[in-house]
Amino acid sequence: MTIKILSADVASKIAAGEVVERPASVVKELVENAIDSGASTIGISIEQGGRFLIEVNDNGCGIDPNEISLTIERYATSKLNYAEDLFQIRTLGFRGEALAAIAAVARLSISSQRKSDTQGAHLRVENGIIEFKVPFGGPVGTSVRVEHLFSNMPARLKFLKSELTEKRYITSLIEKYAIAYPHISFTLVQDGRRILGTSGNGSQREILIQLFGLENAKMMLEVTFEEQEASINGFISPAGLTRPNRRDITLFINGRWIQDVALGSALIRAYHSYLMVGRFPVAMLFLQIPPEDVDVNVHPTKAEVRLKKPDRVFSILQRAIRFALLDAAAPPLIDFSNWAVFPEKSNSIQSLSNPKIPLTDYLAEKTGTEIGADNPGNENQSAFISTIPLLRLVGQIGAAYLVAEGPDGLYLIDQHAAHERVLYEQLISNTSETNSQLLLEPITFELNQFFGDQIDGAIEELRQAGFIVERFGPEDFLVRAVPSVIANLNIKDALNAISDPDDEDVASRDEFEKKMIVKICKRLAVKAGQIMNLPEQEQLLRSLESCQFPRTCPHGRPTMIHLSVDMLERQFGRRGSR
Ligand code: ADP
Ligand code: MG
Repeated sequence: MTIKILSADVASKIAAGEVVERPASVVKELVENAIDSGASTIGISIEQGGRFLIEVNDNGCGIDPNEISLTIERYATSKLNYAEDLFQIRTLGFRGEALAAIAAVARLSISSQRKSDTQGAHLRVENGIIEFKVPFGGPVGTSVRVEHLFSNMPARLKFLKSELTEKRYITSLIEKYAIAYPHISFTLVQDGRRILGTSGNGSQREILIQLFGLENAKMMLEVTFEEQEASINGFISPAGLTRPNRRDITLFINGRWIQDVALGSALIRAYHSYLMVGRFPVAMLFLQIPPEDVDVNVHPTKAEVRLKKPDRVFSILQRAIRFALLDAAAPPLIDFSNWAVFPEKSNSIQSLSNPKIPLTDYLAEKTGTEIGADNPGNENQSAFISTIPLLRLVGQIGAAYLVAEGPDGLYLIDQHAAHERVLYEQLISNTSETNSQLLLEPITFELNQFFGDQIDGAIEELRQAGFIVERFGPEDFLVRAVPSVIANLNIKDALNAISDPDDEDVASRDEFEKKMIVKICKRLAVKAGQIMNLPEQEQLLRSLESCQFPRTCPHGRPTMIHLSVDMLERQFGRRGSR
């Protein structure tokens, strides 16, 4: 074969392929341009998973009508002037490639109006060639429409995943940007349905609630950490809230979404003993580091970066996470301010009503070590926190609580919450189908279409957890087997609980299987008001001791309250509290 230079058309398609791999890559580039434009509202409208239409509107600075045709030239950018600037990049775009790439593989229309111009411009490009440019009058900002993506690249089109998958990619992408940029109001509409709408009021919690549902959002731990020129903020899941894969780990560096395996692994390592094998945390972390410490010009989609001091970044990340986790895992101490029996000495009340000891003191006391910047890798800090000492059962009170004695005081255990925790760990650690027990009579239950589809997708995972579930109608399911650990409990009742999902569940995209298991545990667990005999009480205590995270129920509420010897002595005036 002779060597020849590729035609401009082929070359531009090859180049385009690196930047726009799938519809979500187009959405990402357009949204990043909108963010760079200084917009405070960004609207995204998608049809057929982006294959038919992707439209992104912003109210940003707009484009000079005399320059609008330049935007689709390769390496045309307003964001970079000199090569040295590459190490000081503060915008998301800088390569000047995205619009050129998109123009090469779709029909592209750009309409833009600047505040200072009386007239804007509208540009229409087909297969990389400008069809026309006409004057345009509209609201200030830019609107970019991408139609018939990849229709001139049948091979690429064939490799696209199903419409549903592409839709999910796009939704997940916008969710990430929405939470990374809480001061921008994002609206995502797919096939006419509003999928996401954020207010732009700056509250990340508010967005978290939209994404995860109220209950899980409340459980998420806030991370705020600053050190020298670096800072980290965001949210991570507590130990009890995990996923079967890494997909819910989202990292941003300097406002840029980064998919970096090493950084992700550093994050997971920070959890170490908090996580069960094969489970991963949920995290949305936003790192700010000096721009000169990160080379963003490594990859056409800018998803990978090169860190100048990776170890330093890993270490800051790990410390930020440890602190958030340790803070959350400190056992609940009772708030004496609500107690009726109290000595009159008001200043002693004062000192006790806020029994929170600073975290560092608490740790030093418990582990005999000091946590601090210089020993981030101390492995046993979390070990003591996730376990409880061996307890001696004293009895049950109020048909709701167990009383037990430990080496360091009294424990009050909420029987329902504790049993939920026990069942939950037994169920999720049940990773073998053989620990499953066939039911003499299969149980049938109904689910609406939406949840039915979700269960459908999780049948294999459920089977591995010991549930054999079959669908026999659009809304009808059959359970043939359940994990042996719960085979003797009232399963029918538990299934009824899940067949009636509440609205919050519908809004949340939380992992379905886990949610179901949490619900089932809630139903199966012994209730408050139920009298337990001694062997049952003993059994519950022993099971709780062997739990990995005995201190909280699967919803994150405490299972126990600890009254330390020290605290009791102070209460009885045996030790000076003043
Ligand atoms: P880059 O973002 O790397 O500069 P693009 O190809 O994505 O390259 O965009 C080219 C140029 O078009 C940008 O530098 C910017 O000047 C202009 N542009 C694109 N989208 C917008 C927008 N939404 N608002 C204002 N200007 C835009
Ligand atoms: Mg760009």
